[in-house]
Amino acid sequence: MTADQLPLCPFCQTASEASGDRSYQSKNYSYSGGNFARSFSQQDWKCGDCGATVVQIGGHGNQILTFIPNDLMSLPDQHGGQDYPKEWLDWVDGVFLVAGRTRDEKLEAHRVLEWRKWVDEVARVKWPEFRWDENYNAADGGYHSWPRIMQAEHDHIFGHFYPSLAGNMIPLPIELARPLYPPRIPNSGMKFFRHTRVGWEPVDYDYSWIFGIEEDPIIRRNREFFESVFSEAFTSRDYKVVEIPNQYENQPLGTPGVQPWYWVTTGWATLEIGWRKRVVHIRATYDHEVDVSHIRSLAQRDKVTFETLGPEQLYTTEQLEAEIRSGSNQFSEGTVQFMLDAHRERFPEGEPRRERSHRNSTMAEVVIIHAWSKEPCVEYLRALVEKAL
Ligand SMILES: [Zn+2]
Repeated sequence: MTADQLPLCPFCQTASEASGDRSYQSKNYSYSGGNFARSFSQQDWKCGDCGATVVQIGGHGNQILTFIPNDLMSLPDQHGGQDYPKEWLDWVDGVFLVAGRTRDEKLEAHRVLEWRKWVDEVARVKWPEFRWDENYNAADGGYHSWPRIMQAEHDHIFGHFYPSLAGNMIPLPIELARPLYPPRIPNSGMKFFRHTRVGWEPVDYDYSWIFGIEEDPIIRRNREFFESVFSEAFTSRDYKVVEIPNQYENQPLGTPGVQPWYWVTTGWATLEIGWRKRVVHIRATYDHEVDVSHIRSLAQRDKVTFETLGPEQLYTTEQLEAEIRSGSNQFSEGTVQFMLDAHRERFPEGEPRRERSHRNSTMAEVVIIHAWSKEPCVEYLRALVEKAL
């Protein structure tokens, strides 16, 4: 997008029309930066006449512009930077991106439906020698191994074999065929535009409030995943689940787009569980030492992150020294002094602190293990609450 392709600044246009100047046509924008996040891109301009910030957000096949009057932006800080209004950031994170993700999910579900229809009604009939697995994936090789005529028929419906281009030619239900109408725009001095086939079109405040927003697919899928994990893992026992803030992203509950973690209590175990990048992080804490040899062997079999912690103990430097000297370890006097000095430096005299004892035994009070998918997640949870006790 270049400045030429932006619409006239609605604030300057209104002001010039109010003053009787109907010839106003200037587009006095200067580009002021952009960035590309995981699921959308952003580019900013500034109106040289009124100082409005113009933000273009694109993502999920939708493009919108927001004109933010200068007095709604925070005052420039010492580096000259300004912050967007909180109301606008909350709307982008909590409404616009959620609506985009919901639309993406529906488009994908529709694409899968069309794909299955094509396999059943076209591919299986015309090329019966090709086999398909239960997920409708080609069982004998992908697109590149198909006859050219089969590829052509496929491309005619799905556009191309690249997923990013697929779907261009699939007939869409009417509510998905049109670009997203930005829902529930903030009632403020900001002006919104959306991009359509004919260019930029102002977003109508009242009309935008006709549209509801559904639960964020990220949050819903997270809940459904763990509900199903817990019900499979704890078939025969009582358990309690509470949502806790995401411990990896360190964001409060309810932060848009951030999946909550869970605390599960069952029997003697308290489990902390949630997605940490691409793995499910599980931390089990027991109220006494338990035998962890079984869960350790599962972790070794699957080559996943595994850690155990013993009971927490109070150490003063004197207690540590007594333990070092009484043990069977043959530390030199210099090593002992080094360890004691390091401990004294970290934990000043007279202030005993909690320190974890490091154990290689089969017993532990805390177990941390990572699971790559649902199946091992269920297996580890079962082991953590049953086999370990
Ligand atoms: Zn302006």
